[in-house]
Amino acid sequence: MNNSHSNPNSNSQSNFLDKKFRVQAFCHKARACELQTAHGTVQTPIFMPVGTRGTVKMLLPEQLKQVKAQIILGNAYHLFLRPGAEYIREHFGDLHTFMGWNGPILTDSGGYQVFSLQKLNKIKEEGVWCQSPYDGKKFFLGPQESMAIQRDLGSDIVMNFDDCPPLPCSSERQEMALARTLSWAKICSDFPLRDFQLRFAIVQGGLDVSSRGYCLEELKKIRKWDGFALGGLSVGEKNAEMYTFLENFCHEFLPWERPRYLMGVGTPIDLLFAIKNGIDLFDCVLPTRNARNGQAFSFSGKLTLKNARYQTDKAPLSEECSCYTCLNFSRAYLHHLVRVKEGLAPILLSIHNIAFYIDLVSRARNSILQGVFDEFFEKTYNQYKSNN
Ligand SMILES: [Zn+2]
Repeated sequence: MNNSHSNPNSNSQSNFLDKKFRVQAFCHKARACELQTAHGTVQTPIFMPVGTRGTVKMLLPEQLKQVKAQIILGNAYHLFLRPGAEYIREHFGDLHTFMGWNGPILTDSGGYQVFSLQKLNKIKEEGVWCQSPYDGKKFFLGPQESMAIQRDLGSDIVMNFDDCPPLPCSSERQEMALARTLSWAKICSDFPLRDFQLRFAIVQGGLDVSSRGYCLEELKKIRKWDGFALGGLSVGEKNAEMYTFLENFCHEFLPWERPRYLMGVGTPIDLLFAIKNGIDLFDCVLPTRNARNGQAFSFSGKLTLKNARYQTDKAPLSEECSCYTCLNFSRAYLHHLVRVKEGLAPILLSIHNIAFYIDLVSRARNSILQGVFDEFFEKTYNQYKSNN
C-alpha cells in the first residue's frame, strides 16, 4: 500500500491546520479526519442522518446515539416555517435543546429547498420569493434571512445560502447560479453568527470542473471558510457523471486542510466512490425514506421486506449488523409488520438503515486508518453490486 500522504500532521504542512480540523490519515485520496464542534468531535468519513423538521423521522435521539450517529442535519427552511427559528431561540435557546439532541448539528441553508420546491418559488438577485408548502403564504428567503435562521437555531455548522440549479440545465442558468452563489456568499460571510458556529461555503458550477474551480477560488477570496461543500450534485445527472466529476475535482481542487461535504448524496455505492475521492461528510434521506417504504440496506444489497420470500426467513436483516433490530428480530417478523402496515416497521427499519450507513462509513474510516481502503472498497463494492 502506497500511503503517499500518510501522517500529514508530521510534516511542515501541519502549521496550516486549523485547530478544529485534523487529517489523521490519507489512503491515496481517501482520508480519515477529526472535526471539533461546540457539541462534540466528529470523526470522518461520517454520514449525517437527516432531521429536516427537528426530528430524524421515526428515531429517538437515544436510538441515534445507539447506532453511533455523531452529527445530524436540521433544515433552516422547514424550521423557519414551523415552528419558527425565533420561537426556538426565544423559548429554548437552540435547536439542540428544543429537540433533545445534545450532539453536533449542521443546518442546511434552504438553498436546496428552493430547488426542490421550485414550482412554488421565484428566484431573484437578492434572494427567493417562496410560497409555503404548508399554507400557501408568501415569504422571502435570502442569504441574510437564512443566516439569521441558522444563528437562531444555534447549529454547530452553518451552510451558506446558495442557488442550486437542476442538472442538466442551460449554461445561462448555470452561470447565473454561480454568480448568485458567490454574491450571496459575501453577504453570508458578513452576517454575524454565534461565536462557536462554523461556516461552510457551498461550491456550485454543475459538472464542469473549471466552473467549480472558479467558484472555489472566488469563495476563498471572501474569507477563510471552516469547510467546503459540493452542492448541486445528485440533482438529475447520471451517477457515472457525478463519479467522473468527483474523481477530477475533489482531490485536485478542494483544500486538504478543510472538511469536505458532499450534499444530499446518496446510495451506499455513491458514498464509497466519494470517500475514495476524499469526501468527509454526507447526508441523504435515502436510509430513512427507504425504511418508511419497507426497504432495508445490507452489505449484500437491498431487501424489499414485503416480498413473499421473507415470510419464513428467520435470519436477521444482516448477519454483519449489531443494531437493535438485527439483534432482536427476524426478516419474517419485519415482513409481517410491513405487510400489515404496523407503525413499528418503519421504526425498526430506520434503526437498521441508519446503523448500516454509519457502519459503512465507519468501516471505510477504519480501513483508511489501517491503510487498506482500496481493498475495502473493492470487496464492499463487488459484494454490494453483485446483489443489486
Ligand atoms: Zn441492523
